[in-house]
Amino acid sequence: MARYKDEQCRICRREGQKLFLKGTRCYSDKCSIARRNYAPGEHGQRRSKLSEYGTQLREKQKTKSYYGVGEKQFRKYFEMASNKKGVTGENLLQILESRLDNVVYRLGFGTSRAQARQFVTHAQFEVNGKKVNIPSYLVKPGDVITVRENKKDNGTIKINIEETAARPVPEWLEKDIKKLSGKVVRLASREDIDLPIEEHLIVELYSK
Ligand code: SF4
Repeated sequence: MARYKDEQCRICRREGQKLFLKGTRCYSDKCSIARRNYAPGEHGQRRSKLSEYGTQLREKQKTKSYYGVGEKQFRKYFEMASNKKGVTGENLLQILESRLDNVVYRLGFGTSRAQARQFVTHAQFEVNGKKVNIPSYLVKPGDVITVRENKKDNGTIKINIEETAARPVPEWLEKDIKKLSGKVVRLASREDIDLPIEEHLIVELYSK
């Protein structure tokens, strides 16, 4: 059971960096990366040099973990990104940022993307006045995301708002704490995305 509970931290340790998968714990000294910054497993303390393919693969895996997306969905996003005008890698990150679960997290209603996804799945949010319980729903400029009227007493969301108060809301979103809502002002640009992702490595991997 303990192994299961630490599964997300093991992903961070495998990638050798904080992926912020566990909410407030990630910002505390209980973070496993702060205590044991080496890969899990018997030979974890011996990090071998990765091949070019290995580096590209790790970047893709890391990005999937950040956003909590499976391989099939990630590949679909890559195809969508390739078919859009502009730089494929940047398009890919923009699509990932537009997921409703990510937006709920970015607005500070969830302390992690995993928790935000659970809120969405449990129908705690509406988009433009309509209930949406699909975490992969892609938001558009002008969309308004609100905690549903009958869920506004959700104590966890209220606590989360306090706990994430110091976390800046990205410029492409606007938050209204009183209304428990947020608006998509525009889609995220690369400069808005603060994650240390080298998206060109993912493009290279899928272009082989
Ligand atoms: Fe665990 Fe969060 Fe630290 Fe990652 S960043 S090791 S998920 S506590």
